Amino acid sequence: MTFALTACGGAGAEDDGRKVVLTTFTVLADMARNVAGEHLRVESITKVGAEIHGYEPTPGDIKKAARADLILDNGLNLEAWFAQFVADLEVPHAVVSEGVAPLNIGEDAGAGKANPHAWMSPVNAQIYVDNMVRAFTDLDPVHSAAYRDNAEAYKTRIGAVHDDLVAALSAVPADQRALVTCEGAFSYLARDAGLTEKYIWAVNAEQQATPQQIGAVIDFVRARDVPAVFCESTVSDAPMQRVVEATGARYGGTLYVDSLSEADGPVPTYLALIRHDADTIAGALAGAVR
Ligand SMILES: [Zn+2]
Repeated sequence: MTFALTACGGAGAEDDGRKVVLTTFTVLADMARNVAGEHLRVESITKVGAEIHGYEPTPGDIKKAARADLILDNGLNLEAWFAQFVADLEVPHAVVSEGVAPLNIGEDAGAGKANPHAWMSPVNAQIYVDNMVRAFTDLDPVHSAAYRDNAEAYKTRIGAVHDDLVAALSAVPADQRALVTCEGAFSYLARDAGLTEKYIWAVNAEQQATPQQIGAVIDFVRARDVPAVFCESTVSDAPMQRVVEATGARYGGTLYVDSLSEADGPVPTYLALIRHDADTIAGALAGAVR
């Protein structure tokens, strides 16, 4: 079935004979490229910097997806637009978070539902990679050994990033181990690093911060004497700047979660993203002058 689509559909001028894997966002595309090596062509539907939760696919996206050989999505309700998107396509898709133990959203809209940002734990990312190996092997059994080998090497590098993340954040003093962000996207990272998480809103789709949401974060920052707060690259940091003004906490920097940066930016890869966030958080919390 897949063969037929590729053989007659192709991918236009860009067609280089390789099968095409589409991911829903840039972080997954980078992971998938590490597993695929040169054997598959991997592209992301959403572009760098895009808001991915409430994304609205364009007619061009749908055309592109119809010609793909495999689509990878995160699952855990990350891509609200995805079910409708694939409903009319005859392209196989795989959910890369399958097998991850989800953490639930604790407060705000969506409370009790799975937090979708499971890739922010490198331990979970290794599960994503295993799922990609399975999907790629089904798609292209000829190169299954290469996918396995690529995955093992990549998982070793992911494991090293996890160790560095834990080490970097263990330097943060016990009474400053709080991670305050715009989106509640860091539950998995906070768990790995032993941080208490506090956020303005749970999921980026409803990014109009209410005075109540901002007030609750201000209360938290004051009560815990939190030295630094953060916001993510894909949303406006204006609500967090109000927390900064009200509390005197430092703005600790931009964190990346739902998108990589451009190739010449600070986080062109998933591994760079985790390293950047761990270093930014550790630097601002441990290094803060009070
Ligand atoms: Zn998000």
